Amino acid sequence: MDFRDTLEEQAFRDRVRSFIDQKLPSNLVGAEEEDPGREQAIKEWRAALGEAGWIAPHWPSEYGGGGLSVSEQFVFNEEMAEARVPDVGGMGVNMIGPIVIRFGTEEQRKEHLPGITSGENIWCQGYSEPGSGSDLASLQTRAVRDGDDYVINGQKIWTSGAHRADRMFMLARTDPDAPKHRGISMFLLDMKSPGITVQPLITMAGDHVFNEVFFEDVRVPAENLIGDENRGWYVGAALLDFERSNISRMIALRHMVDDLVTTAQASGIEMTPAMRAEVAERAIEASVGRLISYRVISIQKRGGIPNYEASMNKLYRSEVHQRIAQTGVKLLGMYGELYRGSPHAPKNGSLAHQYLSTVSATIAAGTSEVNRNVIATRGLGLPRA
Ligand SMILES: Cc1cc2nc3c(=O)[nH]c(=O)nc-3n(C[C@H](O)[C@H](O)[C@H](O)COP(=O)(O)OP(=O)(O)OC[C@H]3O[C@@H](n4cnc5c(N)ncnc54)[C@H](O)[C@@H]3O)c2cc1C
Repeated sequence: MDFRDTLEEQAFRDRVRSFIDQKLPSNLVGAEEEDPGREQAIKEWRAALGEAGWIAPHWPSEYGGGGLSVSEQFVFNEEMAEARVPDVGGMGVNMIGPIVIRFGTEEQRKEHLPGITSGENIWCQGYSEPGSGSDLASLQTRAVRDGDDYVINGQKIWTSGAHRADRMFMLARTDPDAPKHRGISMFLLDMKSPGITVQPLITMAGDHVFNEVFFEDVRVPAENLIGDENRGWYVGAALLDFERSNISRMIALRHMVDDLVTTAQASGIEMTPAMRAEVAERAIEASVGRLISYRVISIQKRGGIPNYEASMNKLYRSEVHQRIAQTGVKLLGMYGELYRGSPHAPKNGSLAHQYLSTVSATIAAGTSEVNRNVIATRGLGLPRA
């Protein structure tokens, strides 16, 4: 791969950089959720992105997106991550929007896309169930056609952000007699529909991130079916045309390592040679992660579709994320274990918090074991066990 930008990429990079310089509210970078002023700063940033057509940079422009090519998306995401800009698009912009554009009807696009780009509707993803995570196609939540509606009964679990979401995109079984991948449909539903109950699940880090969601005779209008009935599995699994390098997350890893060094310096920590070597190892791993991202984008730029490379990317990134968090806690010695609320906790316990919250990184969005299976069979050509 040639690491240099083409002239067009360089010009686009300059444009994104100067946009960030001029428009990014300074108090947004590194702001905690509870910081006063954060909400206002997010509003200003959203408005600036909206004006530039960059709320959904990877969507086609006729649907309110930026219409960027994959290489422009990569540059855009790289620059935003370097500037530590928080994502304001969420699952609406990043997951369900592109699905509605590709598989939805014109009415569905008109109904759902404007609320996503304006930020009016927050979305959550209802896929996993208590008995169906890695083997998602075994899901049991039922949707039964009744007149102009489908009636949904069942349960979802680990639903991130369901407590804040206005809408959910979900998979439910519409044909229990068909082979498991062929009896599933995708629905869009309003979280205020009667019969939906959201129960919080608190993580071991003490955060309310995800939930259980129960459905009891929830009526969903038939026009909220996305794609054909019983084809929901293929809608959910479709490879949509945007860049998949995860460059933002790889850059975030390097920022985590940089922050460890800054914290050590600010706290007057004398690093032992072994500790220095460990931090250096993490910095090297973060750089390798970036190269994995470059590999993915170089495949896409040549018109290919990343396959096992996407699994390598997810596996490596989530495991390095955990190791950086572990190094951080070690770096602070006994103080590293102190949690939020302790007056002696460095950085208000954020390293201890990171340590606990990154445990789930190797489970969410595909476990390490499942990704290793993909690398083994599709990447290395090993036989299935
Ligand atoms: C932080 C977080 C956020 C999440 N957010 C959402 C969300 O918003 N919406 C949503 O729908 N889901 C969400 N999930 C759920 C996530 O997709 C599942 O947790 C994940 O797919 C694993 O499924 P599971 O938990 O049922 O584990 P299981 O699939 O039951 O796996 C249990 C163990 O068995 C191993 N295993 C399973 N199958 C195989 C195999 N074939 N070969 C080898 N080992 C195997 C797994 O690696 C794991 O170690 C979230 C999860 C987390 C942790």
